Amino acid sequence: MNMGIVSRSTFFQNAYCVDAIKVFWMEERAAVIQRLATQEGVVALADGRMDSPGHCAQYCTYTAMDNESKDIISVITVDKRETQRKSVLMEKEAFIRTMDILMSEVNLKEICTDAHVQISALMSKGKNKDTGIFHSLDMWHGAKSFAKTIVTAGQQRGMNILLLWVKDIVNHFWWCCKKATTHLQFMDLWMGILHHVANEHEWVMGRCQHDCLAADQTTTWIERGTRAHDTLTSIVKDKRWLKNVHKFLNFK
Ligand SMILES: [Zn+2]
Repeated sequence: MNMGIVSRSTFFQNAYCVDAIKVFWMEERAAVIQRLATQEGVVALADGRMDSPGHCAQYCTYTAMDNESKDIISVITVDKRETQRKSVLMEKEAFIRTMDILMSEVNLKEICTDAHVQISALMSKGKNKDTGIFHSLDMWHGAKSFAKTIVTAGQQRGMNILLLWVKDIVNHFWWCCKKATTHLQFMDLWMGILHHVANEHEWVMGRCQHDCLAADQTTTWIERGTRAHDTLTSIVKDKRWLKNVHKFLNFK
């Protein structure tokens, strides 16, 4: 298509380019940080990106963004050689450096990431445990990984019916996180899915909040007592998963 492509030579054609970009970024960043420094309770969103997929990456770039303005407030790059040549440790290391810098510069009240195990551990029992900063989990990653759990279950024999429901169940998860502000509220809404999929829209302790369903609806309901319904129940009520669900309720 005769389009110009960004390549190494785009940035290295003269020795001045790289430094100019660095200086510009540092100036931009300083201005953003200066503005945020006077703010109460900054919420940062952060994630890492490797230079190649899988566990053989050489570099990890960890980026953080201010939730309100969407300004980038930190970009940290870690080289595998800084983490005993173990690429699986790079994201954690980059996160630590990001947090150290941001905590010294702004009044951070919440950090939102994907469900990276090492990062969760740092925030719940490790280095950053007593910082008073709330660790929330990103909705997009959360919904994606929850969908994967249902798809995996639905691929087993006799459970294909779950595959028809993935989108609705994930939507329900998304909606519950948006509506609920406490764990209790979440649980109230969340458990409704087990009734709804079985075509029960009112039950002893509650009811669905959707409008009346069209009479000619062709939904394939998941009958109670079937293996598919039992499996969905164990996914929906999974204790380990529910333990972290409060981290989604800030809905970031
Ligand atoms: Zn319903």
